[in-house]
Amino acid sequence: MPHIVPRPCIDSLKAYVPGLSIAEIQEKYALPQVIKMASNENPLGASPLAQEAVRRHAGSLFRYPQGGNPRLCTALAQRHGVSPEQIVVGNGSDEIIDLLIRILAEAGQHSLVCFEPCFSIYPIQGKICGVEIRRHPLNEDFSFDFDALLALVDESTRLVFVTAPDNPSGYCPPRHAVARLAEELARRAPGCLLVVDEAYADFAEDESAVSLLTAGTLPENTAFLRTFSKSWGLAGLRLGYAVLPPRLAEYCWRARLPFSVNILAEEAALAALTDTAFRQATLETVIEGRTLLSEGLRDMGCTVWPSAANFLMFHLPHGRGTAQSCFEALLAAGIIIRPLKSYNLPEHLRVSVGSREENRAFLAAMQTFLASR
Ligand SMILES: *Cc1c(COP(=O)(O)O)cnc(C)c1O
Repeated sequence: MPHIVPRPCIDSLKAYVPGLSIAEIQEKYALPQVIKMASNENPLGASPLAQEAVRRHAGSLFRYPQGGNPRLCTALAQRHGVSPEQIVVGNGSDEIIDLLIRILAEAGQHSLVCFEPCFSIYPIQGKICGVEIRRHPLNEDFSFDFDALLALVDESTRLVFVTAPDNPSGYCPPRHAVARLAEELARRAPGCLLVVDEAYADFAEDESAVSLLTAGTLPENTAFLRTFSKSWGLAGLRLGYAVLPPRLAEYCWRARLPFSVNILAEEAALAALTDTAFRQATLETVIEGRTLLSEGLRDMGCTVWPSAANFLMFHLPHGRGTAQSCFEALLAAGIIIRPLKSYNLPEHLRVSVGSREENRAFLAAMQTFLASR
């Protein structure tokens, strides 16, 4: 198609590379069983009540979803003690990130601010929207310098993105620091939105200590993002949501594609929200597994960063192989983890907390890998 020419910002993009899938690895290494600890999915799978809801509603597949997903918005509003007018649901929180940028930032005029490295969707969607991306490096220990971030903000800045807890490090800023960032931003740049991505906040030992959203303090210039992909175990259905100022939520509904949250995602989420046993088991499994994995890796001499999320970032002991060789050795043993090359961290690795058996298998494979060096 010689006459089809994309916009220059698209021409320079590469397609998003997700963690490898189980089927790909099974085929490549002829393995009967593969463990995936690469994409921060729920180690217990999907809630049984959500699965049942999907089966029960299979007969509705020919219907369009209800416009505006009001039942789901009401349930989420109740969960967070806000009004349904403050909730927007999307096809993953990825869709809401894209939506917020498109609503607030004009191509060639406006800028967005985020850390480097950070969740890749913020800068990528910003770039697609033609928005200038301003980034400040994380501190050496992967903590956040909010003052330096603020220093990048000027009249052109429409959005500031912060991930709490952060991906891929697991670092979490205290909630009072995020509250202060919101205040400072409101003072210096009244037209700028702070987006606090709390995709992993419910895995913290004390959620209210890290989450400004659960603390009940909702600054007027701030949008909070949550997702059903991690602790709720519904990554494949694609469902995320935002808690935002009502005016902004209304703009989101104007700009969002009408049916981006499908019927099965909506029914599964409503059911998952009632499945307190599954949720409790998930949080316990993750918190217990996180301790086990980080102690196990440290015992082997690895450097492990403290994490409030359902994954750990780590570094091999010096002189004991490269991150790539470790990743490949684990693949051959049927375990998929995440090398962090794409985050510009070629020597760091990230492992998602698995089930008890998965965590044990991972530690055993690591032991074997390090013993061979
Ligand atoms: C996984 C993740 C999300 C969730 O994305 P979905 O589109 O809801 O699956 C959002 N933010 C961060 C930082 C993540 O790691």
